[in-house]
Amino acid sequence: MTLLKSYIDGRWVLPVSGQGRMDVINPATEDTVAEIAICEADDVDLAVMAARRAFADFGLTSYAERKVLLQKLIAIFERRYDEMVKAITTEMGAPIDLSHSSQAACGPGHLDATLQAADALDWERKMGSSANLILEPVGVCVLITPWNWPINQLAAKIGPALTAGCTIVLKPSEVSPLSPQLFAEFIDEAGFPAGVFNMVHGTGASVGNDLTSHPEVDMVSFTGSTKAGIMVAKSAADTVKRVSQELGGKSPNIIFADSDLEAAVERGVRHCFNNSGQSCNAPTRMLVEASVYERVVQIAAKVAATVTLGDPMQPGPHLGPVVSKVQFDKIQHLIQVGIDEGARVVAGGVGKPAGFERGYYVKPTIFADVTNQMTIAREEVFGPVLCLIPFADVDEAIAIANDTPYGLAAYVQCADKDKARYVARRIRAGSVHLNGAGQDYCSPFGGFKQSGNGREWGEFGLHDFIEYKSVNGFYA
Ligand code: NAD
Repeated sequence: MTLLKSYIDGRWVLPVSGQGRMDVINPATEDTVAEIAICEADDVDLAVMAARRAFADFGLTSYAERKVLLQKLIAIFERRYDEMVKAITTEMGAPIDLSHSSQAACGPGHLDATLQAADALDWERKMGSSANLILEPVGVCVLITPWNWPINQLAAKIGPALTAGCTIVLKPSEVSPLSPQLFAEFIDEAGFPAGVFNMVHGTGASVGNDLTSHPEVDMVSFTGSTKAGIMVAKSAADTVKRVSQELGGKSPNIIFADSDLEAAVERGVRHCFNNSGQSCNAPTRMLVEASVYERVVQIAAKVAATVTLGDPMQPGPHLGPVVSKVQFDKIQHLIQVGIDEGARVVAGGVGKPAGFERGYYVKPTIFADVTNQMTIAREEVFGPVLCLIPFADVDEAIAIANDTPYGLAAYVQCADKDKARYVARRIRAGSVHLNGAGQDYCSPFGGFKQSGNGREWGEFGLHDFIEYKSVNGFYA
């Protein structure tokens, strides 16, 4: 069993006073695979003050100097890629093929896209007749990340923060600390000066709160649930920190009758179930034009019947377990609520799937006859659970799509390009995907409404970590 230490001021350390330990559980086997040593306020203080000291020099380095370090980091990541793939699958249960093709790939993907954006940036330029605009790092940044796409969220924050010249205290999810541990090893090997990157382990309620309220922290970049995001913003408000929030979602997938139905519905079902439904931008509400509704229900049920579960360490297209017992219980509860509120189960349902008594496996579940007011249509389930909701016309589809506190992503399936554009402009969400298009690492990712504030990825992710200074007069 490995004990995962924190990384403070360039060294791997045990907490100075706390004796707390927390198990890391493999969700496929329910076995304990490691332990983390839980930090307390003293450790948070050491980490923040190390970052503060390091900022004095690192904040004044040139982008060219930082780029060299980031390129080393990318090379190390690529060399140790397979270790990262295995760590992700072990800690959160993503099937190994998904970890290889997508989960781990986000690491070099985001780091590379950030450098491309930074290459194109004017770090210093003239404005008007006498002003100089200088792009400077925000300062000491606390990064708090969840477990569902662990490396995606780390790289989408660490990449731009270091590129901008910020120093960091990372608090990764206590549920998935293995991949952050490896990432920290990569940063250590790349040779960033001591104190530029620090990592503390612990729960959100204690260590997370100590970090977000610390007076020497300039910015908090948070990804997680809307509930925790609100607490983070409140805690950061007293010291007027910049706060960026990437929060939950309940994204609509509008299926118009003129789309290639078989392909669109299959794509939508598989996308919703991908990563066992544990993606913030998962298309969990399939809104279906009434004239093709029953056909879509049949296609969706047929697709669900082909979805298999399996050991995430084995290659193949199967789904793995969900991340934890807590998550399993929450999903079971919400499936039962769906049944109790009158939705029709056309695939899956409550209970463990046959043959998967061990591990946190959930039956991929589809509900028909869902209204947008039902709990399963309003709350983020964060499991492989899809709702099918009928609509009468374009404007009703848009109204239902927008009738949610969230606004992270939306998906539109239709042959008529004018209609697709009309809908895309009226959806209140940070990204809209037409006919199965994915998202490029260069384009902004983030939410409207209660899905968050700020944008990550590429150029816009970099701007989140930059301050704008105007120096007026003879500077140039
Ligand atoms: P969570 O909110 O429980 O925890 C996320 C992180 O915040 C963890 O590191 C946790 O320890 C910490 N935390 C919790 N309470 C805190 C507090 N009061 N102060 C400081 N830190 C605190 O979320 P989770 O269960 O780990 O992840 C799933 C959630 O993340 C879902 O709601 C999902 O939609 C969201 N998410 C959003 C995005 C996005 O980009 N919008 C991406 C991935 C996940």
